[in-house]
Amino acid sequence: MDRLEDVDRRVAIVGAGYAGMACAVTLADQGVPVTVYESGPVPGGRARRVVSQGDALDNGQHILIGAYGELLGLMRRVGVPSDALLRMPLELRYAGGFALRALRLPAPLGLLGGLLAARGAPFGERLGAVRFVLALRRAGFRAGAHDTVQSLLRAHRQDGGIGHFLWRPLCVSALNTPPERAAAGAFLAVLRDTLGAAAGASDLLLPRVDLSRLFPEPAADWLAAHGGELRLNARVRDLEVLRREHAAVVVAVGPHQLAALLPESAPDYEYQPIYTIYLQYPEHVRLPLPLLGLDAGLVQWVFDRGALLGERGRLACVISAQGDHQQMEHAELGATCARELAQALPQLPAPLSARVIAEKRATVACTPGLARPGPETPLPDVFLAGDYTDPEYPPTLEAAARSGVRAARLCYCRIR
Ligand SMILES: Cc1cc2nc3c(=O)[nH]c(=O)nc-3n(C[C@H](O)[C@H](O)[C@H](O)COP(=O)(O)OP(=O)(O)OC[C@H]3O[C@@H](n4cnc5c(N)ncnc54)[C@H](O)[C@@H]3O)c2cc1C
Repeated sequence: MDRLEDVDRRVAIVGAGYAGMACAVTLADQGVPVTVYESGPVPGGRARRVVSQGDALDNGQHILIGAYGELLGLMRRVGVPSDALLRMPLELRYAGGFALRALRLPAPLGLLGGLLAARGAPFGERLGAVRFVLALRRAGFRAGAHDTVQSLLRAHRQDGGIGHFLWRPLCVSALNTPPERAAAGAFLAVLRDTLGAAAGASDLLLPRVDLSRLFPEPAADWLAAHGGELRLNARVRDLEVLRREHAAVVVAVGPHQLAALLPESAPDYEYQPIYTIYLQYPEHVRLPLPLLGLDAGLVQWVFDRGALLGERGRLACVISAQGDHQQMEHAELGATCARELAQALPQLPAPLSARVIAEKRATVACTPGLARPGPETPLPDVFLAGDYTDPEYPPTLEAAARSGVRAARLCYCRIR
């Protein structure tokens, strides 16, 4: 983009989630003055710090990957130190035995070597998984518009042990949708940018600070130094008022919040939940790794918040996508998670307390044919950003960042 030195009219951005802040930083970087309006008391939206019973927690445990190029670039731009994330090579280790670690080799050798050397699956299946990845590469990581992840895995005979320990968990984590309903196209976009890309793209990046401090708050500080402003506790109720007072408006609210502002642009979405169950153990308790997989019950992943954020003795259990756990009382769910952890790690003592954060509309269901509206609206001065607007990626932090940058570029072209 050319620099816009002398814009004297502000752009309003509604929503200080990752999309809204990505949009704000991109516009401010071009000299455009922006004001971000956020209804909540902290920035971050669906990836934010919450205070519960006096403790600062995340609204849900998040994980980033090396392929999140747009978000990682923006984080560097606003000065987030690299140690805000713990970077580790893709490593999936289950308490039940399966273990896969990508080797430090150029792509795709790192993953393929890791697959061949994986523990806990028969050699024939591991070889089949290597063939599957090579076939996907040859096909350019493309799938039919109606294909689900399950139909893709079946067609390539990947629905055995490797499917159980590798492909299914990757699908549920990345798309927050069960494989039988998840869009193969979005799944393959993630595989293309991770397993099929340069070494480092499939690295796991685990936050070492809370999710508001990871990007939205440093972005707000950077904005303040670059002619921008973030207003918290500032719900926008009437888009027309903003339109009268600004050169353009970018609406970067969650998909379920769009109808209140722009009913004509709001598709009728279906949502999927993500539950994070925080179990507090005595302070000395640690996991053998910062992240461990579980495959025998409800809990899919458990994170060691003590090792990552210094929250000693706190483990975060994650359950993505729909399931029977949605019918359980929180106390029952906490007790079930504690029991599953005790089965997987028999040396664990009993937890001292449990807290459940249920994000019932964590993301839109990432199914084939999902409506993805893109950045334009029928109004020439109003643009959309948000994880659900990205043309191909599943609804993630990276999709949010990409969408914010895309909306900023379009908005800049219109107002210059
Ligand atoms: C529990 C959980 C776990 C997740 N795990 C991962 C993960 O591991 N990795 C990953 O990449 N992604 C993960 N995601 C998805 C990721 O968090 C989202 O894709 C991303 O945060 C969406 O950002 P967004 O800016 O598009 O929308 P949002 O974060 O929803 O931001 C919208 C903002 O707009 C504000 N707003 C709404 N209406 C108004 C109004 N009228 N006026 C002013 N402000 C308004 C809201 O308060 C909010 O702050 C997870 C999501 C959840 C909920």
